[in-house]
Amino acid sequence: MSRNKKILYIGAATLFAAWLFCLPRELFPSTAYSTVVESAEGELLGARIAADGQWRFPPCDTVPERFAKALIQFEDRRFRWHPGVDPAALVRAAVDNAKYGHVVSGGSTITMQVIRLSRQRERTLWQKTVEAVLATRLELRCSKKRILALYASHAPFGGNVVGLEAAAWRYFGRPAAELSWGEAATLAVLPNAPASMHPGKNRDELLAKRNRLLKRLLEHGDMDATTYAAALEEPLPDAPLPLPSWASHYVEGCPRGARTRSTLQLPLQRAVEAAVNRRSDELARDGIADLAAVVIDNTSGNIVAYVGNASPYRERPGRQVDIAAAPRSTGSILKPFLYAAALREGVILPRTLLPDIPVNLSGFAPQNFDRQFYGAVPANEALARSLNVPSVFLLRQYGVPKFHALLKEAGLETLTRTPEHYGLSLILGGAEARLAEVTKAYRKFFLGENDLAVWYTLDALKEVNRPDELDWRLIRSVRKAAWKTGTSYGFRDAWAVGMTPHWTIGVWAGNADGHGVPGLTGARTAGPVLFDILNLLPADQNWFSEPEAGKSVYSAVCEDSGMLAGPGCPSAQMLIPQAGLDSETCPYHQTGEFVLPPAMEWYYRPHHPEYTGATLRRPSGTVQFIYPQNGALLSAPRQLNGQVEGIVFRAAHHRPDATLWWHLDNTYVGETSFQHEMKLVPAPGQHVITVVDEQGNTASVRFGMAE
Ligand SMILES: [Zn+2]
Repeated sequence: MSRNKKILYIGAATLFAAWLFCLPRELFPSTAYSTVVESAEGELLGARIAADGQWRFPPCDTVPERFAKALIQFEDRRFRWHPGVDPAALVRAAVDNAKYGHVVSGGSTITMQVIRLSRQRERTLWQKTVEAVLATRLELRCSKKRILALYASHAPFGGNVVGLEAAAWRYFGRPAAELSWGEAATLAVLPNAPASMHPGKNRDELLAKRNRLLKRLLEHGDMDATTYAAALEEPLPDAPLPLPSWASHYVEGCPRGARTRSTLQLPLQRAVEAAVNRRSDELARDGIADLAAVVIDNTSGNIVAYVGNASPYRERPGRQVDIAAAPRSTGSILKPFLYAAALREGVILPRTLLPDIPVNLSGFAPQNFDRQFYGAVPANEALARSLNVPSVFLLRQYGVPKFHALLKEAGLETLTRTPEHYGLSLILGGAEARLAEVTKAYRKFFLGENDLAVWYTLDALKEVNRPDELDWRLIRSVRKAAWKTGTSYGFRDAWAVGMTPHWTIGVWAGNADGHGVPGLTGARTAGPVLFDILNLLPADQNWFSEPEAGKSVYSAVCEDSGMLAGPGCPSAQMLIPQAGLDSETCPYHQTGEFVLPPAMEWYYRPHHPEYTGATLRRPSGTVQFIYPQNGALLSAPRQLNGQVEGIVFRAAHHRPDATLWWHLDNTYVGETSFQHEMKLVPAPGQHVITVVDEQGNTASVRFGMAE
């Protein structure tokens, strides 16, 4: 080989290598894109402008056929065949430009324009040459389809609208795939002179250009004469349209600058949003500004409708807050988890009597919502009526750390403190949780395992078991649902979560800034919204199926106490979870009659006229302290002037007409009949208080007085 030839080969190889590596790996590396969120069906839910202030949707892989055909006809007729540059077009451009004495045509291919869009250099002959070289390289890397998509995603469409997808929405209010011929042709000619979208003389030129393109498409056989005639009649778009804005809080929470395909179902989302907005506008008149709702499809576990906060159009502070994702006090909304877990693990049976009496647990004195005590209440009824005191007793029996772990396992991520921090208040709203998480946790916990515990829980929460919770006349048609409400301390949070076999719905109402409103309760505020939403959803054909017999057994259960029947109990066979065989045996029928301990009896009797236990004589356990509990540490309340107020000690006796004699540290302090209350001011230190009845029955508790 001659030396010259060698140089020639080396030179050619160098040039080839240079060509091979001339194109950057990423054509649009630092381009900012809009945040785009689509529904499960691929419809646009909402979008946010890109960081550089442009409406530029993240690139698509494909270009709709009409736009592709229109664009190729207008810009680059031999696009399908040329290798990135079109010599024929360049020659023709040169001839035209010479003929008219100025630039009338660039002769650039679509591929070259993609390169130009990616480089944004000034338009000189040299740059054009570089673009041509890079274009040939791009053709080697990408398919024609991909090149078209790159063009459609980055071409300017006037103002701050970049890319076909954003342009289709801004100018025509629909996705690019649904553009008519007239619309596709308008957008195909626009990037060539983006300013012509502005009103004025330019628009006549734009219209003329579009119509010339339509004629070409007709001649090329892309459309028939009828379609052509209709397309000519289409008007040019007016001012840019606002983009769709569904699930705005959800959209706000999606990754910035990217396209997200959500699980929300657009038709359902629209219906739920409308219903929730309507209710929210009503509630606003009562000072309840904010309302959120989440709907889960139980089959997939996906959230299919999400309203982070209703009526974003209503001017108010807090409307931007996504309440469904904000930690809020849980009220009673977690009680079903405790009932089901205690049942599953044999801590109780479905109707086990739980105490409902005054109790003071190291300073924590739970009260029921109606400030009454019922003495003893079956666990399922306590759940349905959402009584606080029985649930505190149940949690104490079940164990706070275990329940804490169970809730975290169910997905409540906001339980960040230790079980000791929450204590027994965990069951009464002492913790915070997010609506979306609570709703998901219901679905996961109550549908994850179809056992008897879950079945009994859902049964207790059926609306037929809660006649007085809601003004049912306000609800248009009541669908069968298992549902639970919650109201936080100070009327700040109203919750309702409802389940059918197919759906789980969560609703929260209140004020984003946290201020309470009298009358804000889970049942009356959030409940009606829950049923509004339920009525929008396709109806369930069946109720939850009864669990298979595997882990369940029949056992004799006491009809009065709901516990395992002892020898003296009136009993019936009942299906209970296997673990229930280890639960407690009824202690209340030792004499053959149903007799509760005095404190429970004291509060139980007024609500149960049929109760006769008090007429019997019993050897022990006749008299009992209600307050304080044994070992309690008390501190005397003070009046505003600093004077110490007395502490009211309370006891109960089986016999209504009994008289009790009171002794503090063996010193007689007074007597009581019927209502056994004694106000005393014990000195700081340890004490024993004792009561004695006529028969000599006694009860004592030790307590301490704080300094
Ligand atoms: Zn019994």
